[in-house]
Amino acid sequence: MTAAISLRDVRKTFGDFTALKAVSFDIADNEFFTLLGPSGCGKTTLLRLIAGFEGTTGGTIHLYGQEIEGLPPDRRPVNTVFQNYALFPHMTVQENIAFGLQMLKWPRADIAARVAEMVAMVRLGDFVHRKPAQMSGGQQQRVALARAMAPRPKVLLLDEPLSALDLKLRQEMRSELKRLQRETGITFIFVTHDQEEALSMSDRIAVMSAGEVQQIGRPSEIYEHPANRFVADFIGETNLIDATVEAVEGQIVTCRLPDGETVHALANRAASKGQSGTLSIRPERLTITRDPPPGESLKGVLGASTYLGTDTHYEVRLGPNLSLTARMQNAEDAALRLDEGDPVHVSIVAGAARFLVT
Ligand code: ATP
Repeated sequence: MTAAISLRDVRKTFGDFTALKAVSFDIADNEFFTLLGPSGCGKTTLLRLIAGFEGTTGGTIHLYGQEIEGLPPDRRPVNTVFQNYALFPHMTVQENIAFGLQMLKWPRADIAARVAEMVAMVRLGDFVHRKPAQMSGGQQQRVALARAMAPRPKVLLLDEPLSALDLKLRQEMRSELKRLQRETGITFIFVTHDQEEALSMSDRIAVMSAGEVQQIGRPSEIYEHPANRFVADFIGETNLIDATVEAVEGQIVTCRLPDGETVHALANRAASKGQSGTLSIRPERLTITRDPPPGESLKGVLGASTYLGTDTHYEVRLGPNLSLTARMQNAEDAALRLDEGDPVHVSIVAGAARFLVT
């Protein structure tokens, strides 16, 4: 099947600064694909190359099999939703959505039908005669989406479209965006630095850092099997501990921690005895008990705890050079009443520890 977007060795430099270093991957038709990474990693640059607002320094970009180098933005089957919405302030909702279709010289009756369809799709039926200033941020966001999707682009580029909204609205818009993508079948390329946003909406995520793709995968793959320390640290919370491989059995390694304890972990790639790397364990995969549990566990002393409603974060000091954070659900019966300074045992949920070869 032809990919919606195919990037091969795409590079971009600004003077002597390299914003993208030989990026290569495919995005499938109909996919909700997210570019995720910290500020300055090159996400927006990549989006601008696909849109045609910038030219590449090297490499090729194909859209549905067609090479697009040299094609101006308005000739590409692509539309963009910007962070600040970029709505026309003097136009009503209806006029904003119709504008692009008028530019494309759609027949008047088709424009009216399409605007009505889009207004219904983004649930703004009661607002068609309002101007942007008379609407909330969330409503303006819906207009921007409707306007961008109206001409039926094959690909929609979304550059941090939710960042101006407050938390509650942002969460609502996540499911809304996912619904719109499913209903329209448009390929979405969504840029964000918010890992929760990426995990909750995407079919696949490309995690980027310093102009390079660190890992591409489904949200659960990226969370459960991070390719390296950067990805493990950037996605979700984790305990990262320097460790050395003591024994290898297939993909499972026994690794030694700074204070001498050993832990079994799944290695991200072939590891050998004596190799150094990082042990990554998610806080929610650690269990604290007063009595030694059956199987592997580490002895420690309870440090500070933070109550968070559904669960509590516990710091456990394992030795002078090592402490871990565990996150446990708050049981209603509070059977495990723990106080700072209590001796405890920490066990790792079977199969949850990862060893990341450096
Ligand atoms: P953010 O989340 O902050 O928008 P980003 O990952 O989208 O970050 P880009 O906007 O793609 O990052 O920028 C990548 C790097 O390229 C940054 O260091 C930026 O300063 C640089 N850059 C981007 N555009 C230009 C330009 N026109 N001239 C010079 N440098 C640029």
